[in-house]
Amino acid sequence: MSIADQLEECQNRIAQACEQASRSIASVLLIAVSKTHPAQSVEVALNAGQRHFGENYVQECIEKINLLNSLRAEIIWHFIGPLQSNKTKVIAEQVDWVQSIDRLKIAQRLSAQRPTHLPPLQVLVQVNISGESTKSGVQPSETLQLCQEILGLPNLQLRGLMAIPEPGVGSTSLKELHTLFETIQSELGNYKHFDTLSMGMSDDLELAIESGSTMVRIGTAIFGKRD
Ligand SMILES: *Cc1c(COP(=O)(O)O)cnc(C)c1O
Repeated sequence: MSIADQLEECQNRIAQACEQASRSIASVLLIAVSKTHPAQSVEVALNAGQRHFGENYVQECIEKINLLNSLRAEIIWHFIGPLQSNKTKVIAEQVDWVQSIDRLKIAQRLSAQRPTHLPPLQVLVQVNISGESTKSGVQPSETLQLCQEILGLPNLQLRGLMAIPEPGVGSTSLKELHTLFETIQSELGNYKHFDTLSMGMSDDLELAIESGSTMVRIGTAIFGKRD
């Protein structure tokens, strides 16, 4: 199948999952994860109507943004991979969203390095939900505090939470993350921009949408298998 066909199939899966969960289609945003795939594939998906793209590796992300510079205004770039503090500057300068904030130091650097002529960097706090073997992500019990600290940083706009559950982790962990998301949303009171829960990939997007995800990050199902 072509990228355009796979993208359409993916949109259909999202629509069906939304219907199953009695949610509106507009409540779930699709991020096309283009890591390891060439800039050309991003352009094909863009021409098929996709606007949001996700990248995992700093160097590959920046290379692709540069290659597609003439289309920069049409693409919304999300950085979704691990971020070391010595790599924050290019990310702060080049992308629109960072979904993988898991410590204050990284958030502080991104805010300090975000050029002030650009809109605030949209950020998500990455949470390590139960059943994950990776070390990335903040513990659920420490998530509210990190969110509150980020609210004090001038060039970031906190938008919500992100998680990368292990395959087959089951709906309980996903629902726990949704509960944490709602708890923090209410703790933040008047703050109106905490509206995004990023979870769900090619294999579990239906479960994620059923569990309250508002943003799914899909690679394989759109661009095919990675090497
Ligand atoms: C690679 C990746 C995805 C996409 O995974 P697929 O299974 O290919 O859909 C989503 N989120 C993150 C953080 C990733 O690294």
